[in-house]
Amino acid sequence: MLSGLSGKLALVAGAGSGIGKTVALKLAAHNCKVGLFDLNEEGLEKTKSEICSTGGLCASFVGDISKREHVQCAVDNASSHFDTTPTIGINCAGITRDAMLLKMTDEQWDSIMSCHLTGTFLFTQIMARQMVKAKAHGSIVNTGSISGKIGNAGQANYSAAKAGIIAFSKTTARELGPKGIRCNTIVPGFISTPMADAIPPHIKQMVLMMTPMGRFGETAEIADLYCFLASENSTFITGVDIEVAGGLAM
Ligand code: NAP
Repeated sequence: MLSGLSGKLALVAGAGSGIGKTVALKLAAHNCKVGLFDLNEEGLEKTKSEICSTGGLCASFVGDISKREHVQCAVDNASSHFDTTPTIGINCAGITRDAMLLKMTDEQWDSIMSCHLTGTFLFTQIMARQMVKAKAHGSIVNTGSISGKIGNAGQANYSAAKAGIIAFSKTTARELGPKGIRCNTIVPGFISTPMADAIPPHIKQMVLMMTPMGRFGETAEIADLYCFLASENSTFITGVDIEVAGGLAM
């Protein structure tokens, strides 16, 4: 059992699907109170009912991570619902809008910057402000991508945003370390989720050939790392980016 999770309030963005959903379920199993945040209302309700069916404590908040008022509202409502400050922030919200650079539209570029970069900025800033106000120590875990480290044809927008998230989290770690707030980035390789399911078969085949483990990861194989970085078992770890990629891009 990880220490320092029981009774804490965690806000999980992207909790309606994939990695975020599995992290939310695991945090609830560690007796965290979990605020579930996502644009996808149907997905949120499914995560909520799975947590409730195991006796876990959670509340759901529909919203867009790229909108300040939505994130602020989710943080405020989670705080008042559970009557405590959220000190764990997990950001797994995300989309892809793939196109080769020569064909990429402004809309494809802007939507990725907005969801990933602006979303990460808002989520991290609003969570951190809340912790500083309450003089509480805490942990924020953002999500990068292996594409942000080595690039990926067809993902100039996504790779740029994910590289930005890694640098942003390191800067946040430097600024907020003195206040007892840690910030790290988990860097997934290819993990089986609805996002990865949408990858065309020939690209999947190429990825499998480049991955020493020879398969995509499962959400359960990455979710424990989010919980570890959120817990008091990692209190001297901040500003790192950790790959969970089956050896891809060693
Ligand atoms: P997923 O299954 O598609 O889950 C992402 C969730 O985020 C979905 O419920 C999605 O809602 C929600 N979302 C999208 N835009 C949002 C917004 N503006 N505000 C709030 N919620 C929003 O994807 P995943 O694979 O778990 O991805 C989780 C994170 O890992 C993402 O940051 C992704 O970029 C990153 N990642 C994933 C992989 C992979 O192989 N799976 C690899 C590298 C990095 P909708 O369903 O309505 O879109």
